[in-house]
Amino acid sequence: MSHRVTLPYLVLYCLFASVPAALSQQANLDSLIDREMPRLVSAYKALHAAPELSHHEVKTSALVAQELRALGFDVTERVGKFAGHPDWISYGVVGVYKNGAGPTVYVRTELDALPVEEKTGLPYASTVRAKDDAGREVGVMHACGHDIHITSFLGTAKLLVELKDLWQGTLVMLAQPAEEAISGAEAMLEDGLYTRFPRPDYVLALHDSSLVAAGMVGYTPGYALASSTSVDVTIRGVGGHGSAPQVAKDPVVEAAEFILAIQTIVSRENSPFDPAVVTVGSIHGGTRYNIIPDEVHLQLTIRAYKEEVRQHIIAALERMAQGIAAADGIPASRAPIVEVSKDEYTPAMYNDPQLTLRLAEVFRKALGPANVVEVRPIMASEDFGRFGLENHQIPTCQFSLGAVDAAKLAESRRTGVPLPGPHSSLWAPVPEPTLRAGVKAMSSAVLDLMKKPGAHD
Ligand SMILES: [Zn+2]
Ligand SMILES: [Zn+2]
Repeated sequence: MSHRVTLPYLVLYCLFASVPAALSQQANLDSLIDREMPRLVSAYKALHAAPELSHHEVKTSALVAQELRALGFDVTERVGKFAGHPDWISYGVVGVYKNGAGPTVYVRTELDALPVEEKTGLPYASTVRAKDDAGREVGVMHACGHDIHITSFLGTAKLLVELKDLWQGTLVMLAQPAEEAISGAEAMLEDGLYTRFPRPDYVLALHDSSLVAAGMVGYTPGYALASSTSVDVTIRGVGGHGSAPQVAKDPVVEAAEFILAIQTIVSRENSPFDPAVVTVGSIHGGTRYNIIPDEVHLQLTIRAYKEEVRQHIIAALERMAQGIAAADGIPASRAPIVEVSKDEYTPAMYNDPQLTLRLAEVFRKALGPANVVEVRPIMASEDFGRFGLENHQIPTCQFSLGAVDAAKLAESRRTGVPLPGPHSSLWAPVPEPTLRAGVKAMSSAVLDLMKKPGAHD
């Protein structure tokens, strides 16, 4: 629990002007957050119940735009251009608030949800169903917690406008579509984000986490999230009757061989000092019991930190696919096809160490030292790092927002049974302490970066 100072106490202290400056700002933030909390929790639940898939963030983006406009931001909607897909609409929102001379700070949220059928059983659980890009009907859920991010983002915007006497510069609130397709950040940059709008000095974001308790935040200086590469593999055979495999070439067996073979890329070909993951996330082939199909489709994800590791894995996938086909006697005309997706790629995410350590200090003051922890890098991916541009030209930092019950986390650490986390159909952040810490940490970060000269911290 964070220490809260009630309003009369604050008023009394201000009257006598004897309160230490740091306490007055913390108390001020706490009382503003207290006041906003019921509204934020109900906004969160409403967002949670109304998720939208990547590339379809119509209502979510409209809501964000409307809220920012009401706060006095100069808002532009539909920012973004998907290269190679001129027909796709980008639902990016940019809100600019100019408040005198000073640094330009971007705060970013994502807007999209996932094709996951929610199984949390919460009263505000999503029952939304929609068609995915392949035309299949799917359940839709904010299983990555982007609803937590949007709510924290709107709460932060509101607080910063109310506290505008404490900071100066340009605040840009940026809501990004299609993060789960890891293409929205690139689409917004492609559409002239940094030329149509002020170029940032810093870009900040948060992401909810099942590894940190609600009410706490985590930080990771340097590389924090891996690069992500999506790969489609089509294993082709020669179809036929299930009773006569000798006159067919069975792509189902070939796919099985391929899946087992590629397990040795990371375990036998890669240095143990270079983290890497290869996962087959989807396999589809065939129509019924007694037909050998013509082909089987696989969807893979590759995670790595180093570019040479990523390139090695791509080459190994190709080599193994072709080698297995040759060993199985597949005709050259039916050789496997390994395609690296151009749309779904993102480089590793780098948190500027100097900025990250500075913010860790700010968080310690805002939330108390016991509520701020350093967390290890993970192999998940994000396109947030794109906002730093190539070679980390702009300092960026995404910090972890704890979202799970502290007692459950302690129990999970004791038993070794992991708690459901982002992308799980059971992912259920604890709303109030999570949002409270999200709004407080992000507002404090911006206030520090845009502090008025001479203003107290
Ligand atoms: Zn996600
Ligand atoms: Zn996410």
